[in-house]
Amino acid sequence: MPVVRLADLLDQPAATTFLRGVVAGGRYANAYLFYGPAGVGKGTAALAFARALLCEHGAGALPAAPSLFDAPATAACGECPACRKTATLQHPDLRFLFPVSGEENKLDETIDETLTALRQDPLFVFTYDKAASIRISLTRDLLRELAYQPFEAARRVVVVRDADRMREDQYSALLKSIEEPGLTTVWVLTTSRLHRVPATIRSRCQRVRFVPLTEASVTQFLTSRAEVAPNAARILAALSSGSLARAIALRETDPIALRNQALALLEPARRGDPSALWLAAQKFMNFGRTGREALRRMVEFHELWLRDLLRARYGAPREMLANRDHEEAIRRQAQELDAGEIRRRLMVLEEALRSIEGNVSADLTIFSTMARVAGARPGEGEWPAHPAGRWDY
Ligand SMILES: [Zn+2]
Repeated sequence: MPVVRLADLLDQPAATTFLRGVVAGGRYANAYLFYGPAGVGKGTAALAFARALLCEHGAGALPAAPSLFDAPATAACGECPACRKTATLQHPDLRFLFPVSGEENKLDETIDETLTALRQDPLFVFTYDKAASIRISLTRDLLRELAYQPFEAARRVVVVRDADRMREDQYSALLKSIEEPGLTTVWVLTTSRLHRVPATIRSRCQRVRFVPLTEASVTQFLTSRAEVAPNAARILAALSSGSLARAIALRETDPIALRNQALALLEPARRGDPSALWLAAQKFMNFGRTGREALRRMVEFHELWLRDLLRARYGAPREMLANRDHEEAIRRQAQELDAGEIRRRLMVLEEALRSIEGNVSADLTIFSTMARVAGARPGEGEWPAHPAGRWDY
């Protein structure tokens, strides 16, 4: 997640136009709430917006810029002392809060490490564990600071990433600050879980909606900025559900190899060889060392493949196929199956994704899913009719 760049590529035209208008007009709400799916640029936009608000050249006076995010030369001038400081998150009037986990006495260290990574790695992606939260000690410090005038700029900007990870009493304190008259602070909150932000906060913020990115823009980003080969970029983009952060996080996993491994699981099922399939399933789970995430991804690769079959069935051109490096096989298989059957198999995969979240044994899920996706039915051919629950999960 970048402080300065990247975001110019992310296609969020509605949000961008709105924020540009705010900056150009020079009239700010007390608080903004950027909401939308995870990994689509809300945090990046929040920091870019903060930079524009703190720029010494009074962004409103600048000629119309093509995009707020065409850094460094538009809404924020990129050159004044304030812009130089905000570029590295070292402006005293820019406060940036985000969820952290771990020991309270290592908090400073954890935050420093994260900020350093954010400054140095243009592809940095925030990841949290379940318990990560906006720490109360940090908001307490911040709220004390708000009683004073900003240090250098005309206003102070507080960016709170994933603002849904706060405690009830933090929200009350936040609310008090937002409602304070004559406030010199602009709050910019982001969340991908809008329903978890209390209604009292939501109603007092100007909301700005962010949408999933298109596959094309995720692909373009990955190839041009993250050195991902076009084949792999396409697969990642298709798997990402419009989340650049997810695509970036997955890029080191060699998606092509993973996909091939996932698709290979179907082979014994297609041959009608239940024992080989059983073995392959156990091998894939690697004595339970394969995690849920990998299992889920495996199923998603099959979804991508089946979606390609559907697209091919309806005559989609090569450019629309995620697995276009296997175009020939896709076109052939698409001829062998009707659309109803492809959809039925997609439903089997949906069911598998649900069962992965549940408590069902993984090898069983793989066995049953692959057999059914290959078109097998209990009791037919080599497939056992009552295989000790291997079919029903
Ligand atoms: Zn500036």
